[in-house]
Order: sequence, then structure tokens, then C-alpha cells
Amino acid sequence: MDSQAPLIDPFARPISYLRVSVTDRCDFRCVYCMSEHMQFLPKAELLTLEELDRLSTAFVQLGVRKLRITGGEPLVRRGIMGFFRRASRHLGQGLDELTLTTNGSQLTRHAAELADCGVRRVNVSLDTLDPEKFAQITRWGRLPQVLDGIRAAKDAGLRVKINVVALKGVNDNELFDLVQWCGDEGHDLTFIEVMPMGDLGNEDRLDQYWPLSDLRDRLAERFTLINLAERTGGPARYVQLAQTGQKIGFITPLTHNFCESCNRVRVTCTGELFMCLGQEDRADLRAPLRAGADDEPLRQAIRAAIARKPKGHDFDYSRQKVDGQMTRHMSHTGG
Ligand code: SAM
Ligand code: SF4
Repeated sequence: MDSQAPLIDPFARPISYLRVSVTDRCDFRCVYCMSEHMQFLPKAELLTLEELDRLSTAFVQLGVRKLRITGGEPLVRRGIMGFFRRASRHLGQGLDELTLTTNGSQLTRHAAELADCGVRRVNVSLDTLDPEKFAQITRWGRLPQVLDGIRAAKDAGLRVKINVVALKGVNDNELFDLVQWCGDEGHDLTFIEVMPMGDLGNEDRLDQYWPLSDLRDRLAERFTLINLAERTGGPARYVQLAQTGQKIGFITPLTHNFCESCNRVRVTCTGELFMCLGQEDRADLRAPLRAGADDEPLRQAIRAAIARKPKGHDFDYSRQKVDGQMTRHMSHTGG
């Protein structure tokens, strides 16, 4: 096969979206993502920024058009702005979009440079507008710092999408405040169902599980929801609020299985390629990267992995227990 032919998986899905986790570290310890005393990987196990660049470049050559940088918290990795600067050379040369998912804590420092590197949009995770609740959820985070970061992103001309993990008994009473705030500030808004990741005492996750079907019903009590056909090849489905024109996304791995249109794969900071967020199968890309300067073994390893991308995940809460649970933390694959 032509070593540069585009990546198509066994279910005829073209792989055009790569998420790269550049670190497992984070300055927060969100309760649904990490335990308070995380053991992070030894630095030697991490891909260097040069290796991450080679790897991303190989994927772009194989047809990836969208690159999302994540973590852990991507903006705490030392030298990460150099990585963004180098990755930006692919924009318009195969790559349509370079973007990131961040907790927002470092955006005051980096927003302007990100914009200068061609980043146009940023996803910021923010589950509450209440400072105390924010401190409880993130353990180490402080709300004003994140709000300043979001403001800096907006001032730098970046479009901001706020990602909210829907947590019953935690932020369900803020639904309309979050919608209103995002409307006022001009931010897009997406809700995410909490997923059973990591050994975090997932009984709590199940207690906090707030199905987005319920959240949607609550929204519909106050707004007229117009279903939008728009799909990004990703898991989100969108509605528009007729009264305000706002677009709201729902990521519902549990109440609606979205795998059929999955166009994405994920690479961890150690160079493991996960073909599905909800399955254990993975391929090691670090060995072919470190085998030498030739990228052909790397491309072959990528192709072999895509050839076994599974049809979908097996998360299931429907029997009131957590099935299909993953033992790795979300910070490992970057969400
Ligand atoms: N640190 C960055 C951030 O928080 O945006 C990027 C990495 S974080 C792992 C990516 C996303 O995963 C965040 O939006 C976070 O809320 C989400 N996440 C983490 N654990 C989750 C879980 N158990 N269920 C659902 N979403 C989760
Ligand atoms: Fe850090 Fe993001 Fe995980 Fe929170 S969700 S602990 S900010 S990686």
C-alpha cells in the first residue's frame, strides 16, 4: 500500500482527527479525573516534544486534518508553546485545525501566543461558576484564575467552548446560570456525561451520573430546543436555543452511543495509540519512533493499529452498575 494513503478503519471510517496528550501531569486534581495523590510517569517515559512533533507530523501526512492537544493539562508542559509553534507549520498544508483542551489555568500567560500560532478555538473545562464548588471539584483549582484565563482567550480573539461535566447534586442547580453566562460572554457550551474512568471509587460517579436526556428535558422547560443536524464527526450533538440563538452540545457516551461516526484516535504522552477511548487495545508508537530517523516504521505501526480500530466502546450504566469501566484515568488519554 502507498505509505502515504489516507487512514481508513475496518468500518470505512476515515481517521481525520488526532488527540495528543502531551503530559499526564496537571495543576488540578478533578475528582472525576484524578486521585489526590497521583503517581505521575517518570520523565524518561514521556515522548519528547520533538518526538511528539514527529508523530503528529506523520499523522498529518496520513490525512489527519484536525489536531487537538490535551493532557493532563497541556499548558503545564514545559516548552509546549514551542510545540504549538512548530505544529502550526502544518496549518493550510493538510491540517485544517490546531486546537487544545485546557483547564484554563495558564491561559492568561499563553492565550495571545496560541492565537499567534494559528489556534482559533480553545475548549475550556469549567463545571461551575461557584468558587467553593469549583475548589471542591478541582481540589487544587481556583475559579478566578480560570475566569481570567477565559477572558484572556477571548481578548486574544480565540473562540471559547466551555465543557461542563454534568454532575447530579453538584452542578445541576447551575444549569441555567451556566447557559446564561455562556450566552452573555459569547462562549459555546457543551455538556458531558461523567464516564467511569480510573479507580476513583466509581460508586460516586454513578451517584453523580446525570443523564443528559434529563438535562435536556430541564432545558426544554425554559427554552425551545431546535435540533441541529450539524455533526463534527465527533460525539457531540447540538441544539440551538430558539430564544437566544445559543448552540449547546451534548456528549452522551452513555445515553447515546455515538461510535458509528467516530473519526478519531488518541495518542498518550508515552506514545501509546488508543483506537477507542473505551477499549483497552492500544499500539506502541514510541518504539518505532525511537527505532531511528526513518518515519516509515512509524507509519506502518499507525496503519496496523488503525486496521484494528474497534466498532465502539462498551460503557453501560443501564443496569445500575458500571459496566465497560476503564481502569485508566481520563488524564491518561486526554478525554
Ligand atoms: N486538563 C484539560 C481539561 O481539563 O480540559 C484537558 C484534559 S481533561 C482529561 C479533558 C476533559 O476530560 C475535560 O473536559 C474533563 O472535564 C473531562 N473528563 C475528565 N474525567 C472525566 C470523566 N470521568 N468523565 C467525563 N469527562 C471527564
Ligand atoms: Fe486536570 Fe483536566 Fe483531569 Fe481536571 S480534568 S484533573 S484539569 S486533566
